[in-house]
Amino acid sequence: MSVAPGIFQKNLDETSLSSETTANFMDAVAKKIPGFDDSMLNIITHSKREIIVEIPIRLDNGKVSVFRGYRVQHNNSRGGPFKGGIRYHHEVNLAEVRGLAILMTWKAALVRIPFGGAKGGIACEPKKLSLTELERLTRAYTEHLGDNIGPYYDVPAPDVNTNSQVMAWMFDEYAKSHNNCSLAVVTGKPIEIGGSQGREEATGRGVVIVTRELLKELGLNPAEQRIIIQGFGNVGSYVARIMHYEVGAKIIGISTVEGAIYNENGLNIPELLSYQAKHGTIKDFPNCDWMSNEEMLLQDCDVLIPAALAGSVDAEVAQKTNAKVIVEAANAPVTIEADAILNERKIYVVPGILANPGGVIVSYFEWVQNLQQLYWTYEDVVGRLEKLIVDAYKRTYTASIEHNCSLREAALRVALIDVIKSIKLRGF
Ligand code: NAD
Repeated sequence: MSVAPGIFQKNLDETSLSSETTANFMDAVAKKIPGFDDSMLNIITHSKREIIVEIPIRLDNGKVSVFRGYRVQHNNSRGGPFKGGIRYHHEVNLAEVRGLAILMTWKAALVRIPFGGAKGGIACEPKKLSLTELERLTRAYTEHLGDNIGPYYDVPAPDVNTNSQVMAWMFDEYAKSHNNCSLAVVTGKPIEIGGSQGREEATGRGVVIVTRELLKELGLNPAEQRIIIQGFGNVGSYVARIMHYEVGAKIIGISTVEGAIYNENGLNIPELLSYQAKHGTIKDFPNCDWMSNEEMLLQDCDVLIPAALAGSVDAEVAQKTNAKVIVEAANAPVTIEADAILNERKIYVVPGILANPGGVIVSYFEWVQNLQQLYWTYEDVVGRLEKLIVDAYKRTYTASIEHNCSLREAALRVALIDVIKSIKLRGF
């Protein structure tokens, strides 16, 4: 079912995930841009399309369950298809999906890739579903989305609890129902069916690049920093790996949903990676203290990298942390309240739209390779990723100096200027 734009729209402040998705923040930043007018705010605070689908599937026990799925296409004024992940989680709802779609619009504009912002998801508990149930659900969701996705219209990717297998099912279902075998309909696919080299590590690598650039700007040697990482999944584990092997930084704390490990002299990352691969957990890893996530976030460190979930850096952490730099590897980990405190305390916060677009950048590379049917090497991908992230970092840092504002405000400003210019050029 496709829903007319605006029908579900609420005041974005009620549902926002982060400063960048609140109407107040967008308004405040946009009003400082020459030539901005209120009609622009009206456009960017509304999604182009919000889709809700009710998906019945037969479970393995023979019963039928109905799942609610979403796809929000926020703004594609800059041209190109919409782009954004699909998450499977019991808390997925329209407000969350909308907030994440808005973040995707800013991310794509900031790193200058030709995509509009979108996001999707299904409210479900994926761990309670068998593999065959997950496949049926994914195929039915794809079918329900119908013509609302496509290589030149809206290109989904993996997100929380979805992976390359889910993308392979989406591609296959789309190919069958549309008689169109374009691999470019989804990204984050397995390498064997059009996936890109370097996609898995891309978000973590982007986080490391931007952290390294900011530290250098502040006159700090990246190799001498003590780092705490919340989350040891796709993003957190690659941040740890690349920080260790390529930057030489000391990782002193790492957590998962189970709890945290901490050693002020540095964790042995190669051994930790093997330990997790063998035991499926970081609990009881030798030569470190075990503590709660909350305790770990308050430990002494130079750089704090939340790479797990939204809202984990709250007012208490903001007041007590002695980190010099906080890097939003996750989407919206710093609450709006905490952000104000950190600004006041002159602690640098690298906003998610600058820190974590590595994944969508390599998704863009995958899409380009699929359309051209010409595949790049790992070195090509990493080199091009580095360039786009460093350029976005420089634009943001320069804007923060020029306009005497936080990196968050500067990043949104840079993104908004591109989006607003495009809206004006195209007309509406
Ligand atoms: P993941 O599922 O692979 O890993 C999540 C990690 O967080 C796991 O280690 C998990 O144990 C941990 N975690 C979950 N709940 C926690 C809690 N309450 N306290 C501490 N740790 C907890 O997810 P991911 O792909 O690494 O994504 C992490 C974050 O980064 C999410 O916010 C996601 O939206 C964001 N992000 C991911 C990508 C990507 O390409 N994977 C891109 C951009 C943004």
